[in-house]
Amino acid sequence: MCIAPPKHGHFFFPWINEAMNGYLLFILSILLLDYLIELIVALLNLRSLNPALPAEFAGVFESDQYARSQEYTRANTRFGLIQSTVSLVATLAFILAGGFNLVDGVARGLGFGPIPTGLLFTGLLALLAGTLNLPFSVYQTFVIEQRFGFNTTTVATFLLDTLKAILLAVLLGGPLLAAILWFFEFSGPWAWLYCWGAAVAFILVVQFLAPVVIMPLFNKFSPLADGELKEAITGYAAAQRFALQGIYTMDGSKRSTRANAFFTGFGRFRRIVFFDTLMEKLTTSEIVAVLAHEMGHYKLKHIPVTMVLSILQMGLLFFILSLFLGNQGLFAAFGMDQLSIYASLVFFGFLYAPISTLLAIGFNAFSRRNEYQADRFATHTNGAGAGGEALISGLKKLSVSNLSNLTPHPLHVFLNYSHPPVLARIEALRRLPQPDANGTGP
Ligand SMILES: [Zn+2]
Repeated sequence: MCIAPPKHGHFFFPWINEAMNGYLLFILSILLLDYLIELIVALLNLRSLNPALPAEFAGVFESDQYARSQEYTRANTRFGLIQSTVSLVATLAFILAGGFNLVDGVARGLGFGPIPTGLLFTGLLALLAGTLNLPFSVYQTFVIEQRFGFNTTTVATFLLDTLKAILLAVLLGGPLLAAILWFFEFSGPWAWLYCWGAAVAFILVVQFLAPVVIMPLFNKFSPLADGELKEAITGYAAAQRFALQGIYTMDGSKRSTRANAFFTGFGRFRRIVFFDTLMEKLTTSEIVAVLAHEMGHYKLKHIPVTMVLSILQMGLLFFILSLFLGNQGLFAAFGMDQLSIYASLVFFGFLYAPISTLLAIGFNAFSRRNEYQADRFATHTNGAGAGGEALISGLKKLSVSNLSNLTPHPLHVFLNYSHPPVLARIEALRRLPQPDANGTGP
């Protein structure tokens, strides 16, 4: 009898020496690097909290309220770091303990073909990730948001939301994943192109379904009642020759006191939706300014351009993915006994993470640029010589009521912000030439 450890392999994780391949090293380094960057940015962001209220917000933010907004940033940052730490440790432990191979064993054990097995494998992983995430989501909603007076979600709403989200993921995500697995399994070298086509079709269908089928599952939408606000909105849209299918209000107050507004749908089916919480907080002219900003995104073609860019990104993703399907080294890295297309998809996600991070930085920069442009559009067209004042006061009110961080660290903004910090937006608005007396502007 020989009690020496096997020649190849770690004592506890027999596959580990062979598998300490480039892929595993790369993926572990990426996970750690990503975590370190988040940690550094979070600490920098905490340090850039300045107790002195910016002059622009004098008279808008009460000093105790401003202190409260900073406490909110601190609470969220600390919480985010705890969540990332738990997630990092869980991910590392899961990879190193051969968790993927275990889950694969369970999925294969049922003896289905490659596509149902793939759906099962992915579903089980999603279930594990969701279970890990659930207590964080509960804490965020019922402890942090509650403590700062944002939360209005009841336990029943929270449970129903969770169930509906799972159901939607299964009903919408399931068929798409099945199609992707089927193409990669059976349709030969151009599978990535077919997958890309399927994903694009899926996104377009979801965009059409969202306002009519998906969003009403979560909120009530009612047409805006006749009155001063409706007249102001209709008047502005008509002046801009902007076709609107409807103006709606949404019961955002069902979950939170936060305020928002958005457009949904394409072309003639466009509708503008205001949260009830927004209408409580802003005046008519501020709401029209918010509407003007949202319309600016349409008029300046931000929405189709962003869509085309995401579609291109998706093509890139499927193409690179096709190069790594069934890659032996990648499977060894995760300690898998058997190759499969479906597991390749999941593992590729780890490899793609740095590319996806870089692309997200690019998308955020593009989005921040678009926000400045939409702000400019709003002030040039919002008329009556008001310049950007209505938009500025609207932005300020929203920042106060959302307890926004007025002084985020520039690195945090660069990496993570899709909108410029509110003070930068206000400064940019103040620098704009004011429109002339009849409000048409330059
Ligand atoms: Zn915007």
